[in-house]
Amino acid sequence: MQTITVLGATGSIGCSTIDVILRHPDKYRVFAISGNKQIDKLMKQAKQCAARYVVLSDVHQYDDAVKKAAEYQVDSEILCGPKALEEVSSAPEVTTVMAAIVGAAGLLPTLAAVRAGKRVLLANKEALVMSGALFIEAANQSGAKILPIDSEHNAIFQCLPDNFVYGNLAASGIKQILLTGSGGPFRTRELDTFNSITVDEACAHPNWSMGRKITVDSATMMNKGLEFIEACWLFGASVDDITVVLHPQSVIHSMVQYNDGSVIAQMGNPDMRTPIAYGLSWPERIEAGVAQLDFAKMQSLSFDSPCYQRYPNLKLAIDACASGQAATTRLNAANEIAVASFLAGKIGFNDITRVNEETLNGMEPMQVSSLQQILEEDRKAREIADGLVRGLI
Ligand code: NAD
Ligand code: MG
Repeated sequence: MQTITVLGATGSIGCSTIDVILRHPDKYRVFAISGNKQIDKLMKQAKQCAARYVVLSDVHQYDDAVKKAAEYQVDSEILCGPKALEEVSSAPEVTTVMAAIVGAAGLLPTLAAVRAGKRVLLANKEALVMSGALFIEAANQSGAKILPIDSEHNAIFQCLPDNFVYGNLAASGIKQILLTGSGGPFRTRELDTFNSITVDEACAHPNWSMGRKITVDSATMMNKGLEFIEACWLFGASVDDITVVLHPQSVIHSMVQYNDGSVIAQMGNPDMRTPIAYGLSWPERIEAGVAQLDFAKMQSLSFDSPCYQRYPNLKLAIDACASGQAATTRLNAANEIAVASFLAGKIGFNDITRVNEETLNGMEPMQVSSLQQILEEDRKAREIADGLVRGLI
């Protein structure tokens, strides 16, 4: 029996996680769930999965949450604030933590789970992008098992050989990791119309239903850039080990190419319950509620290379990855500000790239290693990006 904390339970990944958990009451029980603003939804979930703790991210929400708990007849204990998120991620009773908070807000509770040696189901890619070396080192020290939930990384994980050596792909006969991406909603849109892209257009992903931030990141392909960095850390790969491949149908979720000419791909319908179920049940497999691929009905699969003129954010991220931790932390921070500003209608679609690029250009290269330095670079980059956004309004 695994005892699970679901961080970011009210989000897209959080809801899919609870869906899979509730299919297997003999295998999984919920310890704690967390949410940011949607208190009603969180209380409904608490009742549904009999969570022992319900955690809200802001301490000022306590009174409201207690009232709502009474209204929904929820017995769970209510906790609030960032420390509470870390506590329910590292509590001794907990075996497994689903890290599904979006953005940098997920870093500290996810790190707490890693340091406490939990089985960590990692959806929150931003945490790894911000703190890569520190995160992996913490897992090595505590013995935490990091299981990738991002569909691409979950696919790569499934395609790796049993004798895989972290950081030495050649020793396992691996030539390349092929990281696939659909190209988002603007793969064929005329480049000179990108300025007029609306929030609704950017939030309409052709294949996946996800939270708004990652959906915009998919439209700019910053998502693939963050995933590129994520893959480097998860598998100990270098920039030259990974090739991004456009695959508009999102049926193949990524591939590993071997030196004997074999390519192993993981396929499935685009439904996050598949990687979530694999993360929960690994090394076994469980029913996830996902429809099976029907090859007789499947459209043809196509592939292409991404063009950096169309997807400049992908290039920014790959360059930042080559440059090091300070650059990836800063890029992630700038992008969170830029995407939030785009979603709030303050800046245009092309301005996202502008804010990201100018934030990076506005900061001196440096080495970061401690958590304190990482948080400081994150803070400084947000300040610069905020200033750039104000200049664009
Ligand atoms: P979402 O916006 O649907 O949900 C985000 C969750 O985080 C919510 O529960 C929200 O309450 C919580 N949250 C937001 N801000 C917070 C804060 N400041 N403090 C504490 N909690 C906060 O996002 P999502 O699509 O579920 O994505 C979650 C993470 O998983 C992201 O890092 C994303 O990149 C990653 N991911 C998502 C998908 C997907 O299909 N949705 C796929 C791969 C990876
Ligand atoms: Mg992904």
